[in-house]
Amino acid sequence: MMDANHSRLAISCTLLRCWFAVAALLAPDCCSGEELAGIRVRTEPTASPVSISLKLLARHRLQINADGRSLESPARLQIELPISGADSWPVFDVEVRDAGGQPVERRHPGVGWERFSIELPTRMCRFVVQVAPTKPREKRFPEQDRKVTDAEQRYQATVARWQGDRDAALCLRFDDAHPSHLATVMPMLERYGYRATFMINPGLESTARGSKVASAYARHLDRWEAAARGGRHEFGNHTSHHRGAASDEEMDREIGEAARAIWRLFPDRSKLLSLNLGGGTWWRTRRPLRYYLERYPSFVVTGSLGMDDAYGDRVAVFRRHLQRNLEGGLGWCKAHFHSVGDDLATSEANLRAVLEIVRAQEDRLWITGLADAYKYLVERQSCRLEMVDATDHEMSLRVTCTTDPRLFDQPLTIRVSLPVDWRQAVRVVDRAGRERESTVTRRDGQAVVLFDVRPVTDTYRISSK
Ligand SMILES: [Zn+2]
Repeated sequence: MMDANHSRLAISCTLLRCWFAVAALLAPDCCSGEELAGIRVRTEPTASPVSISLKLLARHRLQINADGRSLESPARLQIELPISGADSWPVFDVEVRDAGGQPVERRHPGVGWERFSIELPTRMCRFVVQVAPTKPREKRFPEQDRKVTDAEQRYQATVARWQGDRDAALCLRFDDAHPSHLATVMPMLERYGYRATFMINPGLESTARGSKVASAYARHLDRWEAAARGGRHEFGNHTSHHRGAASDEEMDREIGEAARAIWRLFPDRSKLLSLNLGGGTWWRTRRPLRYYLERYPSFVVTGSLGMDDAYGDRVAVFRRHLQRNLEGGLGWCKAHFHSVGDDLATSEANLRAVLEIVRAQEDRLWITGLADAYKYLVERQSCRLEMVDATDHEMSLRVTCTTDPRLFDQPLTIRVSLPVDWRQAVRVVDRAGRERESTVTRRDGQAVVLFDVRPVTDTYRISSK
């Protein structure tokens, strides 16, 4: 077996050498970068005497041939995968294998997982960048499966875009477990009645100048625990110590310990958490990020507006950001802050100005935690409606959901428009005969009933009282 592998390797090495000989004739002596289907590969340092060639073996399967024989010491290959457009890659599922099929260690920044580097030895090498096999996801349904009507078009039922049939979801996030979150931010949010997400680093020790000291979180442990018990806010996983990881084992510890600490604080909530690996950190791993996202049920937060005053003109930028989300697209408005107060990342006045902007639009907004909004979004895409039967006085609606209710437990809002001659009193009953709370309101001049359902398959009978 060993011999067969060796001879196969020898043949492929010979082929590779021939290939490089041909490639060397076609390519310039030294190249600092190559691009193919939106994928960018370059050496670091950029002037390294390395020739690189790229070949797409299949969709999401890239072969990189690199000749490092002229290098005096190992260099690195910087790879950037496209995350939008027709050639985009599911970057959380990506791994790299060497010519022998072994996983290669990648080095990623904590924010921007589509960029990473691998070590380039002082020889000829071949790598394959590919999507690792993933577990099947919950079934998703097209948008038209969530809009149903009866044959006579008396009723129209849909799953509201966001909970409470609001136009947009707003998630305010506060990173790094800074003491100002306890002293300033939480009392302020309390006055407005808003829910936010606190991305905490619950590791109890931090290393400063080689000696271990209690972390900012540990110094205020009682107050963080009290905030969790208060239940107003959601906590997100910002890793145990905000320092990245030098190995798979360390990455597992950094994500796993933080997840377990949050699970302990919220024993009655689903284990699905938002995850942000932290700006300015580096992560070395051979595994796809998906491995960690599945082991510690979590999703990566992307597309959030940075609110540090240093970025400039934050209040006006936030106002436009919120308006864009209210007017169209997905309608999920995210903004994140660090410390708040005098001489800190965001001034108290600017946070207050942001909250005033929110207050002016709060009837149109679902102001909630990141995991709440993420769950709603995924549950909604994984659910469909069927009108089982309908008469002039009642109708029944089947809701099918394919998400795992142990993780996805955010109620979905169903909206049903009612015939004009209905009296305002409406009764909604589930299959087990339990009456559901419902609200009759008006949308575009028409009476509609709104009611929340658990994201599981069930049938609801809606009748005029
Ligand atoms: Zn951070």
